[in-house]
Amino acid sequence: MSDGHAAEWPATGTTPGLVCSHHHLYSSLARGMAAPATAPVSFTDILEGIWWRLDRALDEEAIHWSATLGALEALEAGCTAIIDHHASPSWIDGSLDVVHDAVSAVGIRVSTCYEVTDRNGPAGALAGLDENVRYLKSHGGRGWIGAHASFTLSEETLDAIVGTARDLGVGVHIHVAEAPEDAGAGARLADVAGDDWLLVHAVHLDRQLPGTVVHNPRSNMNNHVGYGDPARWTGPVALGTDGIGADMLEEFRLAFARRREADLDAAPDEAWSYLATGWDLFPAAAHDRVVWSSEHVEDPWRLAYTTSVRPLEITVDGRVVLDEDGPTLVDPTEVRARAAEAARRLHRRMEDL
Ligand SMILES: [Zn+2]
Repeated sequence: MSDGHAAEWPATGTTPGLVCSHHHLYSSLARGMAAPATAPVSFTDILEGIWWRLDRALDEEAIHWSATLGALEALEAGCTAIIDHHASPSWIDGSLDVVHDAVSAVGIRVSTCYEVTDRNGPAGALAGLDENVRYLKSHGGRGWIGAHASFTLSEETLDAIVGTARDLGVGVHIHVAEAPEDAGAGARLADVAGDDWLLVHAVHLDRQLPGTVVHNPRSNMNNHVGYGDPARWTGPVALGTDGIGADMLEEFRLAFARRREADLDAAPDEAWSYLATGWDLFPAAAHDRVVWSSEHVEDPWRLAYTTSVRPLEITVDGRVVLDEDGPTLVDPTEVRARAAEAARRLHRRMEDL
């Protein structure tokens, strides 16, 4: 669709491509899986009963279709760049390339990393770290070393992550004090975090740390971990979804509504600034272009109360990847059908874990 064509719509506004600053593309096939045998009563129960069963069951095919579906849903919501945090302990080596290639085929951008953890033993931790290094070196050296969270990392593994990140000149992308179980993260990371770190959640973080805090309001509500009020932080704040899609306008509205609940003086410009931080983290997305169904998309007050604003045309790296007929590089119907098949196989494997 040309610019002239876009003008046929009665009301359109444009923005750069939106950035999801914390995603788990591996979770896209989780929907529809069986509920855990025991209802979770804590954050640890949620991790052990749901996410750590899911990630162990991921193989190459499931990683591919999960990332493809997640990227399609991002594109359809005007998100052109995803900062991803990946885990597939049964299929680590090469997994980040599978994610990267799947997202690229949909026409949007991704910077992924492997979430290093000791929960699968020292060999699993080392393999995860190696996968980060391999991916970074083969994709221009920019990005982050992934780490799960302080409470699943030994001293030795945390030292290795920090040392490797410093050697490569990159930051660390890590969940920080998401729940009370990880409340000690602030003390532990105080001497090692840097300005290029991504500090995800920070709900129970007890101090200022260097780095960008990534706020995930829907996930925090869903996991019952409390409110990670972004107004507490003196450094930059970005916005993520923690794996629940990549509809960043929706997440912006949620971030604003949740701030408003805490403080009636809150203005949506704050939540919009969290989205804008995404362009500092993923500068290439600032050059992407999204034509929206609302001419008021750049007015945070109007946008905060206008649901169902959708992209009409998206250009990434000079290429139109979505037009009035939908995505141009993939067939959404086929992607959803293939992803549904992969999900059914994944859910069956999960029953054995
Ligand atoms: Zn996360």
